[in-house]
Amino acid sequence: MFDSLSDRLGSVFDKLRGRGALNEADVREAMREVRIALLEADVALPVVRRFIDSVTEQAVGQSVLKSVTPGQQVVKIVNDALVEMLGGDDVPGLDLAAAPPVVIMMVGLQGSGKTTTTAKLAKLLKEKHGKKAMMASLDVNRPAAQEQLKVLGEQVDVATLPIIAGQQPVDIATRALQAAKLQAIDVLLLDTAGRLHVDQQLMDEMQAVAAISTPKEVLLVVDSLTGQDAVNVAQSFTAQVPLTGVVLTRMDGDARGGAALSMRAVTGKPIKFAGTGEKLDALEVFQPSRVAGRILGMGDVVSIVERAAAAIEEEEAERMAARMAKGQFDMNDLRQQLRQMQKMGGLGALAGMMPGMKKAKQAMEQSGMDDRVLLRMDAIIGSMTPKERIRPDLLNAKRKIRIAKGSGVQVQDVNKLLKMHQEMERAMKQIKKMGGLAGLGKLFG
Ligand code: GDP
Repeated sequence: MFDSLSDRLGSVFDKLRGRGALNEADVREAMREVRIALLEADVALPVVRRFIDSVTEQAVGQSVLKSVTPGQQVVKIVNDALVEMLGGDDVPGLDLAAAPPVVIMMVGLQGSGKTTTTAKLAKLLKEKHGKKAMMASLDVNRPAAQEQLKVLGEQVDVATLPIIAGQQPVDIATRALQAAKLQAIDVLLLDTAGRLHVDQQLMDEMQAVAAISTPKEVLLVVDSLTGQDAVNVAQSFTAQVPLTGVVLTRMDGDARGGAALSMRAVTGKPIKFAGTGEKLDALEVFQPSRVAGRILGMGDVVSIVERAAAAIEEEEAERMAARMAKGQFDMNDLRQQLRQMQKMGGLGALAGMMPGMKKAKQAMEQSGMDDRVLLRMDAIIGSMTPKERIRPDLLNAKRKIRIAKGSGVQVQDVNKLLKMHQEMERAMKQIKKMGGLAGLGKLFG
């Protein structure tokens, strides 16, 4: 799976691995090659652009963590961006919470693997979820499609709706629902008709079937080997049927990965399953982090960087705690806090995080501040000299004007920041008086 893309990316990172520090030229050169690799993998151009911009922005200027190499750090950034591109790790599972029979509608073009996937899914629901499933084929176009589902049903030991020759899709769906109710079926899978191309008749039929069967899930089956065509098909369907997810088939033969990598970003629909072979158990829940891991083939590197980052956060927290215990709080500490806030979800997540933060938050809200302000404050501190950061009391009018100019704000913004710092410093001193961290409880009690 994704072999050619993997190889290409691997050689890009090999070049970065030996380097001592990440400089912009190295990152840009590497990203130029990643860009080519993604385009060759048939990933949609806008998706590639967004990916490269995001990775470059994160990698350039980022200080390299202790104990990892710059190349390793870029691998981790690329890994996270891939996971993001594939839809993030909170993939919504199948939504089966409804009164039975829960209906799953399978849609897609002919030859995409729709019928096979229907049987695979029925098997999975039966074996992994303990569901009583039934399948019905509404495909009256393709000769023998209904018989094919029947045979597959026998193979996976899942009931199929008896075939009545000449019956039309909406009538078959109605009959299937009745049968499912009578037989206390948990999940009814409707294998709808495919066409060679997306056409209006097909869409009308889908809509009619959806209207009478109110499916909880409408899954579009597409062939990953068709690359951008698969994404285009998904877009056409998205416009007409309320898709809840995509199943990508033939991932086992997909060396490039373009469909998988573009699908989520282009259609907004989650990839829920991946077909990985002709056998009826070759269906996997689609997990972005696992897929990214397979593409990069560098799971070990990713976890090294994760561990290094966790260790540094811990060190930082300890350093902070030690300074708090001594009642120390300078501009570097404030900056650290501001960055932490951004990472933890901005001002909204602020209350209760740090002593003095509640007050600071109130002060910020009163003066109409929002999350952009965090960035601005960070910039103001960035315009101070190292000495000023440690001793903000040095800041006279002249210095303040210089800092305001340097960070593109007004002098009053610099003053606001200083006031906030003072408040927090005072809170730190108070904690010290109350006996360090042990006194925290009293402050919030
Ligand atoms: P439909 O016309 O969309 O219903 O397509 P079918 O379900 O009949 O599948 C067409 C062919 O694709 C069959 O030979 C399947 O075995 C094959 N197929 C389906 N899914 C996969 C998959 O994930 N991997 C591989 N290698 N073959 C698949």
